[in-house]
Amino acid sequence: MLRQYELVELVKAYDPGIDEALLNKAYVFSLRAHGTQVRESGDPFFSHPVEVAGILANLKLDHVTIAAALLHDTVEDTVATLEDIEHGFGEQIAFLVGGVTKLSKLALQSDTAMQAENFRKLVLAMADDIRVLLIKLADRMHNMQTLHYRKDPHRRQKIAQETLDIFAPLASRVGLQSMKEAFEDLAFKELNEPAYKTTTERLARLCSSSTGPIEEIVSDLKSVLEKVNIHARVLGRLKTPYSIWKKMVTRNTTFEELCDILAFRVVVQTLPECYQALGILHNSYWVIPGRFKDYISTPKVNNYQSLHTAVISPKYRRIEVQIRTEQMDMAAEYGIAAHWQYKQNVHAHDGTQYQWIRNLLQMMAQAKSPGEFLENTKIEMFQDQVFCFTEKGELVVLPKGATTIDFAYAIDVWTGDHISEAYVNGKSMPLRTVLKNGDQVQVITSNNPTTVPAWEKFACTGRAKARIRHYLDQSSPKK
Ligand code: MN
Repeated sequence: MLRQYELVELVKAYDPGIDEALLNKAYVFSLRAHGTQVRESGDPFFSHPVEVAGILANLKLDHVTIAAALLHDTVEDTVATLEDIEHGFGEQIAFLVGGVTKLSKLALQSDTAMQAENFRKLVLAMADDIRVLLIKLADRMHNMQTLHYRKDPHRRQKIAQETLDIFAPLASRVGLQSMKEAFEDLAFKELNEPAYKTTTERLARLCSSSTGPIEEIVSDLKSVLEKVNIHARVLGRLKTPYSIWKKMVTRNTTFEELCDILAFRVVVQTLPECYQALGILHNSYWVIPGRFKDYISTPKVNNYQSLHTAVISPKYRRIEVQIRTEQMDMAAEYGIAAHWQYKQNVHAHDGTQYQWIRNLLQMMAQAKSPGEFLENTKIEMFQDQVFCFTEKGELVVLPKGATTIDFAYAIDVWTGDHISEAYVNGKSMPLRTVLKNGDQVQVITSNNPTTVPAWEKFACTGRAKARIRHYLDQSSPKK
């Protein structure tokens, strides 16, 4: 467990102007309030708020958030009241603690309606102050890290599933990529232990092979870049067990066939250097077609920026490369938390400035039932696009929910008008099949147009819908 002075030092290291006395007071208040309570692990309960504060300190959050994290369970689990917190620590900290408390009271209700209600409260709280969400994410992270101590397997599974469905996408949505990955892997371990074990064992074997593939490729990438005078920071890593397993399942491939197990990050100084680096890499290695994405000119919804590509490295390894500047790298590492580190944006406390939170609020107002709201928001939070491939490996980007009909129209109008059969990952599938990330789609066309009115229901892209309507209008008998 993090000691009092260690936590204070951790915060002071990135924010020298902190109110040290306030942090110490919060530490002592929480320690006294939780007293002799113990967790299922046998650890004193107080270790939990301290670890949660530590997670947030590693994200370099302001001392108000850290103090609120120390106090986040006092109102729910001890005799302390919200008035005590406000009196001792001020309005802001009391608001954050209150926000987190409201949420945990409803946590993990068995039926969907209650789960949706809980989520609705989270959205409302984070619309007022997004730091409520950050504390909630850190709280869930520590609970996931200590999940194996929980004795009830049913409850463990439930917590893991909720983490995968709600907390991992939320972390991703606020740009906390490594937190999202950690959530997924911890949940994966609980929900499908055999698959988790096989995947991690195979990854470990790959890493321990005497060739040391990561170091070798890092130095190769560096020397290629240095030829054009780009002195980049190059990092290599294995992709996470969950992401690899998911790809194996969605692409229906084996571990051996899976190419992008190794991922590299090239961090350069300036924006032009990103494109220069891309150019020299594409010039020096075989490029895997359909994998290039420019998230610099078109950032992701969570403001993530990078160039992505995949190439064949020496010794015929297929690798994934991300290229970005130091500044983009910082944003990719810390997401929304970066606002507090640099205090660039004083309004960042107001969650309503984030379009996606506004969207969630709107959906909440419109949903007919809590269940429907939960379903809609799950879709909204996951990336709103699916990436599919033609049989030649060309990338086709479609909105979530797109079917093989949309796919055909995305290739060209003629193909759309003449589609007769579709193979998804080598299997013949109905045309209404909804496509998933990584699906490989082969469209068979006939000589005559095949469009039927029912297609309009199965199409979700504007392009396909418009074309189908147009075709049907044309071919219907004139009045
Ligand atoms: Mn907690």
